[in-house]
Amino acid sequence: MESGKILLNNTAPPPAGFFYAPECIKLQHMNFIPIRAYDNYIYANMRLSMLQEHDINCHLKDEFTVTIDPLLNPAIGGIKLMVADAQVERAQQILNDAELEWLQTIPCPACGQKTMRKEVLVKEFPGFWGKVKSMLANGEEREIRTVYVCGSCGKEFKELEDNS
Ligand SMILES: [Zn+2]
Repeated sequence: MESGKILLNNTAPPPAGFFYAPECIKLQHMNFIPIRAYDNYIYANMRLSMLQEHDINCHLKDEFTVTIDPLLNPAIGGIKLMVADAQVERAQQILNDAELEWLQTIPCPACGQKTMRKEVLVKEFPGFWGKVKSMLANGEEREIRTVYVCGSCGKEFKELEDNS
């Protein structure tokens, strides 16, 4: 093993010629935040490697459970894409751009025009018990629902088939 200087603050890439000691990486405190949930293993991995290509520190959670037992999927909320908290904003931007690009290639299931757009609806639950109920049902204090709306005919779709 070649020798190197142990760097205590390893949030930045090490300077040329240095590397991070493994024990140093373990010590580092880093929070990972789920920014997407997928029920499709291949799709989740595509998004993961897309972020990794942009040097985002990320991984998939619950991936193993989902793969061995797809029936458990709804109970654990799918495969979560976890991103280091400092990079969440950038990761969101990369994913949003990719989704937008993808969306422009999808024809509307009703009228066939490629004018779909994504809308994120947030439902707030007032009061303490409302939030508790929402936590039990959605795993979050708010219910977040994604719909796809066609700009031509105005129809809404919960999901879009990727036929490409
Ligand atoms: Zn349409």
